[in-house]
Amino acid sequence: SLSIRRLVKRFGTHVAVDGVDLELAPGEFFCLLGPSGCGKSTLLRMIAGFETPSEGSISVNGTDVTGLPPHRRPVNMMFQSYALFPHMSVAANIAYGLKGRADAMARVDELLRLVRLEGFGGRRPDTLSGGQRQRVALARAIAREPGLLLLDEPLGALDRGLREETQGELRALQKRLGTSFIVVTHDPEEAMMLADRIGVMERGRLAQIGPPTELYRRPASRYVAGLLGDVN
Ligand code: ATP
Ligand code: MG
Repeated sequence: SLSIRRLVKRFGTHVAVDGVDLELAPGEFFCLLGPSGCGKSTLLRMIAGFETPSEGSISVNGTDVTGLPPHRRPVNMMFQSYALFPHMSVAANIAYGLKGRADAMARVDELLRLVRLEGFGGRRPDTLSGGQRQRVALARAIAREPGLLLLDEPLGALDRGLREETQGELRALQKRLGTSFIVVTHDPEEAMMLADRIGVMERGRLAQIGPPTELYRRPASRYVAGLLGDVN
């Protein structure tokens, strides 16, 4: 469903993304793993259309979307800071992506059930816990049923217990939706647990791509081995 060719992003003389090739199968759960500053968010922002590539191309479902604005792409993104609208109710936040849909309110209820927040529709984001806010952001991101969902550190704000619980839910949700997910994380354990395939990023490049067990058993470099070696 996603095809990326020789994608490059330069900020002045700094090369944030340095020639990335990536093919994603429909319904695949892909994790982008790597340390802070390696270019994960920049890559996601280019796929979503919030950043213009310096070079290369991006196709979704066989259509070249490289020049299209974000709202014309069959892609949705949940940002690292998950940016909810503070002056709007939880329901209005989720319905934001459903403008013009007659079934919007019924759909909001369905989404609230999906992220286990039934009855929270009338609340304001600032009355929710961090984990609950994250679920609202997730519901908003999947509301339009995009073919491809990009999640930038979706579980970053959660404590360990809730994080493990939500990992299982995220994985189940993805299988239920049948949507391709790209989830950014810098937690190797999380990537191993969630992904069909992991892409390990090193200074703007994909150092290795493969299923979790393959990366763990046959790391292509000491860098990859070092990253995954933290997993017991
Ligand atoms: P983190 O895990 O900390 O979120 P990341 O892998 O998402 O890191 P990016 O945000 O993609 O990293 O940034 C990659 C590099 O590009 C960094 O060195 C960053 O400073 C630089 N960069 C990102 N956006 C810009 C920008 N708008 N202007 C200049 N440099 C930028
Ligand atoms: Mg980032």
